[in-house]
Amino acid sequence: MIVLDAVSKSYDNTPILKNISFKIAPGERVSLLGPGGCGKSTILKVLLGLTPPDHGKVELLDRDMVESSEEDKIVTLQKVGMAFQQGALFDFMTVEENISFAMENMTKMSKDEISAKIDELLAIVKLERTRKMFPHELSGGMKRRIGIARALATSPVVSIFDEPTSGLDPVTSTIILNMIHELGGEDEKSASLVSTSSVEIAIRFAERVILIKQGEVVADDSWKKLLLEGNEWVKHFLSLRLIGIDIAYAKELGLPEEFIKLHWH
Ligand code: ADP
Repeated sequence: MIVLDAVSKSYDNTPILKNISFKIAPGERVSLLGPGGCGKSTILKVLLGLTPPDHGKVELLDRDMVESSEEDKIVTLQKVGMAFQQGALFDFMTVEENISFAMENMTKMSKDEISAKIDELLAIVKLERTRKMFPHELSGGMKRRIGIARALATSPVVSIFDEPTSGLDPVTSTIILNMIHELGGEDEKSASLVSTSSVEIAIRFAERVILIKQGEVVADDSWKKLLLEGNEWVKHFLSLRLIGIDIAYAKELGLPEEFIKLHWH
């Protein structure tokens, strides 16, 4: 469903992505994790065919995203739900128009079906009362939630979210993560990828974590395994952000018993 094979990319002779390879199969949910500036957004842009790699192969939904024509890429992107951190809503459209725009263009739903779906989506993001509002009347967190509802409105087979919760308070972050879970579906056919610099968000979102450091994949495995068996950098990066949390929350997150014993007793 998603293939990156030996992808490299430089900006002004500075290597940003170095030999990145990974595959994501239908039904998989994956977190792309790494410190700010490690190359996560660039990976997503290359994957979506928005910026070309210098070397390597990129496939999205079986389409070659390097060699294909712009038109073919657009046809593919229409099947993808995307929400970028700055991926703003259309300012001149109300919330309902923003959400229905995607459905009118990409699905064969009737007006009534679209209207019912908007009700359902706004109920999930707990923003029922914003239906007739314009983006400038909403807070940053509310706009982010609407952006994600819009990305998921068409039940895409692939959903991609770049830093969906950065800069948001914990309560809003939780609502957004639950939303992506609920709307992104867990069926065998759809895949979702979330990029984040937060270890907590990454492990709450997915079991499989692809860890990026300075433009390279340093680990790609179950985070529980990496926490206990990763190399020193991997263990340090993951555990540094987790050992300060309260023990009840550590258990809720499902941190391995061995790890909890090591750090909390
Ligand atoms: P992340 O999403 O992990 O924070 P990015 O992919 O945004 O990382 O950026 C990785 C590196 O590439 C950063 O050092 C950034 O400054 C650089 N970079 C990103 N886009 C460009 C660009 N268009 N031109 C030059 N440098 C860029």
